[in-house]
Parts: sequence; structure tokens; C-alpha cells
Amino acid sequence: MTFETLGLHPLILKALADIHYDQPTPVQTKAIPPAINGKDLLVSSQTGSGKTAAFMLPALHRFAMQHFPEKTGKTLNQQRQSSRTKGEKLRFKAARPKMLVLTPTRELASQIVASAEQYSAYLKHIRTIAILGGMPYPKQMQLLAKNPDILVATPGRLIDHMQSGKIRFDQLDILVLDEADRMLDMGFIEDIETIIAATPETRQTMLFSATLDGIVGNMAKKVTHDAESVHI
Ligand code: AMP
Repeated sequence: MTFETLGLHPLILKALADIHYDQPTPVQTKAIPPAINGKDLLVSSQTGSGKTAAFMLPALHRFAMQHFPEKTGKTLNQQRQSSRTKGEKLRFKAARPKMLVLTPTRELASQIVASAEQYSAYLKHIRTIAILGGMPYPKQMQLLAKNPDILVATPGRLIDHMQSGKIRFDQLDILVLDEADRMLDMGFIEDIETIIAATPETRQTMLFSATLDGIVGNMAKKVTHDAESVHI
């Protein structure tokens, strides 16, 4: 199995070659094809399995197809293409990301941003930022002012920005809940529910967790529709 056979965009394949990702890991092999097609995912996998690329690569593929459609490639869900224009950017003060990744810790968020930047090295139009507890407020305002496409966040701080109107999710295409079991263990359930309630029903949702039993399983069923289950 290669990344090419999984159907990823050539500009992503080029970035993966640069960082010597020669073969997809098992979670990537199983998750990427349905995710590229816009399906929801429920994935049980551990840190170290390559799960970041399992959700980030199909998302980047979808964004790449919107900007650089391949002549021979499959056309992708373009119907929800961002309606942002230069004029609108000036009018809207709130950031309106297309993808949100919720993750339990600052360290994980920083790693996810670093990975996204590597994978999107040739997708110059894609901007990824992290919103984290502990980061100085002016710095976060500066990052949000870039109107990022991809927002990686810990739930508590994100809620603050939503409530102050700095972030809107009406343009959100893709929601990822990373290490969902850990986020619930850390008491983020209400924050997560508030955030999800602010996103469009039509979004694609990908949930990753070490376990899909108990509370996390119940939440997974509530937030996904007709999801593909992947067990590693
Ligand atoms: P993750 O589980 O996403 O935290 O990834 C664990 C580590 O594996 C990270 O250092 C990734 O850069 C690396 N990695 C993920 N997928 C691949 C791959 N297909 N080939 C080589 N390294 C990978």
C-alpha cells in the first residue's frame, strides 16, 4: 500500500516524500479512503499509530481539491466551498475556520499544528494555528486575525473566544475530536458539547479515541452520522 494508492492529492504526496513517509500506517490505510470521500469516522487507536496524519491528510486533500483540482482526479465535495472573498474578509472580524481539531493538551495541539504544516508545505494557501490555554491573549488575537483555515484547540480556551465572538463556525466543514476519551476524563464534556452545537450539522466528523466504550461511545454516536468504524 502507498499513499498514492490511497488517492491523495499530488501536492500532499510531494510533502510526504520530503519527510520520508514511505508507507501509510494501518490506521492511515483504513481511515484515509473513507475520510477523503467525506464519511464520518470513529477510530480507536493510540498515540504513536500515525493518527494525526489519518485525519489531517484527508482534510488537506479536500482543501487541495478545492484550490487545485486535478484534471483526472475525483471531484470532491465542493458544494460547501468557502464563500469568503477579499471583500468579506474585511467585513468579518471573526475567524471562520473550515476545520477544527479539538485535542486535550497544549503539547498535542502544538504537535498537530507542526504536522499539519509539514503535510501542507506545498499548499501555501492553507493556514493552521493553535488556540491554547496559557498563550498570551494578544498573541492569540494576532493568530486569529489571519483567519486560519485550520484551527487546533484545547476546548476551554476555545470557548472563551467563541463567547467573545472572535471565532464563528458557520463555515466549518470538518470537525476532529482527537483523544476524545482523554478530553472527557479531563472534564471537557460540556465545553465540547457547546462547541459542537455551534458547528453546522452538515460537517464531517472524525473521532479518535483509545477506547470507544462507555461515555465516549455514547458521545461518538451522538456527534457522528453513518460513521465508518476503524479499529486498530
Ligand atoms: P501520531 O500517532 O500521529 O502522533 O504519529 C506518531 C509519529 O509517527 C509521528 O512522529 C509521525 O510523524 C510519524 N508518522 C506518522 N505516519 C507515518 C508514516 N506513514 N510514515 C512514517 N512516519 C509516520
